[in-house]
Amino acid sequence: MSKHLRPLTLFVVSILGIVLLAACTPTERLPVPTSPPTDCPVFEQIALPTFTVELSQCVEPASSQKLQVTVSILPQKYFVEGIGGEYVDVNVMVLPGESPATYEPKPSQLKALSQAAAYFSIGVPFEDAWMDRIAAANPGMVIVDTTVGIERMPMGSGEENLDPHIWLSPRLVKVQARTIYDALAQIDCAHQPEYQANLERFTADMDRLDTDIRNMLDGMPNRKFMVFHPSWSYFACEYGLEMIPIEVGGQEPSAAELADLVTRARNEGITVVLAQPEFSIRAAETIAQEIGGKVLLISPLASDWLNNMRSVAKTFANTPGQ
Ligand SMILES: [Zn+2]
Repeated sequence: MSKHLRPLTLFVVSILGIVLLAACTPTERLPVPTSPPTDCPVFEQIALPTFTVELSQCVEPASSQKLQVTVSILPQKYFVEGIGGEYVDVNVMVLPGESPATYEPKPSQLKALSQAAAYFSIGVPFEDAWMDRIAAANPGMVIVDTTVGIERMPMGSGEENLDPHIWLSPRLVKVQARTIYDALAQIDCAHQPEYQANLERFTADMDRLDTDIRNMLDGMPNRKFMVFHPSWSYFACEYGLEMIPIEVGGQEPSAAELADLVTRARNEGITVVLAQPEFSIRAAETIAQEIGGKVLLISPLASDWLNNMRSVAKTFANTPGQ
């Protein structure tokens, strides 16, 4: 279904000669759209598993041991526990406070993979360098690509880079939850009914969260925000916001770029500059100082994913002057 939209969207975008991201530019003083714009990432209704699970890998019902699984980042722990409940034990590769862009798994973490029945990847940059070694650490482990069914947006101007931050949109998280369910139900078929019930509850939670965020952001006068690391494109696209990133191609901005950002912040009436604990906040502080504003920290990597999403939405909604 959504496939029909894709050629049309691409056609319109190429005609206007603007990038997909710029097409998300919202009109100011309009309420949050009740459904996402058609240029937000599309996905297939049902994610098709790209992994294969041997029948012999199905855990015996007699086993009282929890299913050991590993994920790349903390928010995925929330998702896998949401579906797997009491039957899974989730290990996280990128430790709290570390960046998924540059993380280097510890030898002990690679060794621990020998106990894992599955690895859930999500397309964060460190996986590019490490996935082969992760897979080699346990040939019997099922590797589940949770980006399946999600069309990622280009990141910034470099079209070769796809934006990995798909865990920051409840709608896209629903697709990931379905992929996680498919994998768990196949690997541990004895608990398929429980996984299915959890998936239904989890999906309802996502729908409620989505509605709440829309209500919180409804009527925000200034829908533009400035943030150091551009983690929030999918969130912005979904809720009619416009993200102005400070980071340039993964680097701190130069003095000239910083000056341009200060001018832009003044022109756009921005008074709060957002940053995240995993990256340097120096540039954000410099801009905030220049415009007489302040820096607020929001984390895209918090482990209590659902409450964090609510508090991020609250931060956007309550930003003075925004
Ligand atoms: Zn990132």
